[in-house]
Amino acid sequence: MDPACFLPSHQFNGSPLGSDLYKTSPTFASSKTGRTEQPKAVEPTRIITDPVTGRAYSKGRLLGKGGFARCYEMRDLSSSQTYAVKVIPHSRVAKPHQREKIINEIELHRDLHHKHIVKFSHHFEDSENIYIFLEHCSRKSLAHIWKSRHTLLEPEVRYYLKQIISALKYLHLKGILHRDLKLGNFFISENMELKVGDFGLAARQEPADQRKKTICGTPNYLAPEVLLRQGHGPESDVWSLGCVMYTLLCGNPPFETSDLKETYKCIKHVTYTLPVFLSIPAKNLLMGILKRNPQERLTLEEILDHEFFTKGYTPDKLPPSSCVMVPELNPPNPAKSLFVKVTKTLFGKRKSKVKKSPSEERDEISKLVTGLVKTSICRQMSHKTVEGNEVTPLSGQSPSSSPAVTVAEEGSRKSISRSIRGTMASTSEVFEDCVTASAVIESAIALLKNCLSIMPPAERNPASLACHEHFVWVSKWVDYSNKYGFGYQLSNRSIGVLFNDGTHMTLSANWKKVHYNLTNSKHFSFPASAVPEQLQGQMSVLQYFASYMEQHLMKGGDLPSIDEVGQLPLLLLQWVKTDQALLMLFSNGTFQVNFYNDHTKVIFSKPDHSCLLTYINRDRNSYTYKLSSIAELGCSPELQHRLKYILKLLLERADA
Ligand code: ADP
Repeated sequence: MDPACFLPSHQFNGSPLGSDLYKTSPTFASSKTGRTEQPKAVEPTRIITDPVTGRAYSKGRLLGKGGFARCYEMRDLSSSQTYAVKVIPHSRVAKPHQREKIINEIELHRDLHHKHIVKFSHHFEDSENIYIFLEHCSRKSLAHIWKSRHTLLEPEVRYYLKQIISALKYLHLKGILHRDLKLGNFFISENMELKVGDFGLAARQEPADQRKKTICGTPNYLAPEVLLRQGHGPESDVWSLGCVMYTLLCGNPPFETSDLKETYKCIKHVTYTLPVFLSIPAKNLLMGILKRNPQERLTLEEILDHEFFTKGYTPDKLPPSSCVMVPELNPPNPAKSLFVKVTKTLFGKRKSKVKKSPSEERDEISKLVTGLVKTSICRQMSHKTVEGNEVTPLSGQSPSSSPAVTVAEEGSRKSISRSIRGTMASTSEVFEDCVTASAVIESAIALLKNCLSIMPPAERNPASLACHEHFVWVSKWVDYSNKYGFGYQLSNRSIGVLFNDGTHMTLSANWKKVHYNLTNSKHFSFPASAVPEQLQGQMSVLQYFASYMEQHLMKGGDLPSIDEVGQLPLLLLQWVKTDQALLMLFSNGTFQVNFYNDHTKVIFSKPDHSCLLTYINRDRNSYTYKLSSIAELGCSPELQHRLKYILKLLLERADA
């Protein structure tokens, strides 16, 4: 994994779009760069005049194109007020039903007055066009935010959904259905407030038996009853809202497929999957909204009363930078460190004077975990660079310069062990197995020492193996040890986290089974759906690591993925970072070294009793050799240099 992947790929231009636009009329601002460009000859700056009032407006840059309209930024020359103006050429609405549609949009929208609905200012027409003057939303729409971010944090989703729901409640109370709720119709103002817009498909609510049976809306977000031509009711808007929520949390619309017919089938049968990284309240809420029968769907009120909203943290404001990068959100009580809190509760070291009931405690942790852990992980991930091998201990004290592995107190482990055994004995399995990091180090040193001492000088590597037993290696990793631990994805797609307290959790490749290791000799395993409450904090962290790596990181080489085999997961026993490389030692004797500067990797594995050495070069191409061939025939100076470095690293670890 390239540490640079952590860095945000987009730079946010936080200045109001086109704020200098009118200082010199013939220049246009580029929304991407903020630089000014010469206007294109085909689109000269024009003054538009309302033929009735005589008010003049200067036409600025194009904000976007719609079905009938182009939308421009325009400034009232007398008041300097800026608007987003939909310009609809008469030629585009020549047919009566087209003109009717525009009139319908104007008549519905002009009567709407709500904080979270795009303000309709006024409209007029001249000989060429119809002009609809709207409140200008300078930060574009949720579609643009989604394009940059792909997924939002749950607190952000709550922030936006609450505003959409507030607008929808107002609309529904007035008997208006929006009928086209989608990310592109949720506009974002300069101060990050959401405004529902585009009433092109909106309609007055009709009694169920008199509803128009037309199919309208965005295909992915159409409700089953609309597809089945049973008409559009307020519940159909709620369905679309569920699709919006899903898209923001999961990154893709719930029923998206490559084929429209298939999508419609999925909608009709309500076939969708809930990713494992979603919090339980988020999953429950989505299931409550995406119900086939409109009457069974949650109402807007019920949605707001759902624990997803009542128990999760919602920020009062979002920073503009959140349009393109994961925001740094202020928790309700910033003085409290989440992990310390979760750990203290899990490990029974709470010193609170007022004793909370177990359910209060659970709620509090779940709230913090679902809201804040995600926030801080993402934030940290975005900025993490590879530097040294410092680690912040669990207690959140100052970073220590000690090696990267911290050891949990024996007492704490015993207490959690008792607690898991006590509550989960029926569903967990306990295995006894013991491989220590020092045993892996010792054997690795012996292998390398022997190989380096006997290998003859050579200019190139021996022939690589055309086929060999597959082995598991680390394809992605995330160091978040200054808070929680070290996460990794193996080539068999299972995920693991070595927490700072030395405990370890893995999620199987199919994301169905969870293993928890208190020590490397005590293994518990549970179905992912039945992880004991005591471990929900760790599970949330693991799930977040999993989804982060899945979505944001590149696989570290071209080696094929293999299926997970065997009952016991591969355990990361120890990881060490130096200024040049990351060393990872596994319970099956595999060890892997990733060099930061050129992204090369060396993996030692023992899939079939012989030792294999795999080298992943700068171009991410992998070559696997028998270590015995390298010992016999030598290897390239490039690889030899790395092997010597690895031996030095291992010797240092052995002495530590
Ligand atoms: P659609 O066919 O998507 O309904 P519209 O005519 O409503 O298109 O809008 C076209 C584009 O103009 C939108 O996608 C958006 O980029 C931009 N736009 C529309 N309304 C506003 C607004 N109030 N503020 C800023 N941009 C807007």
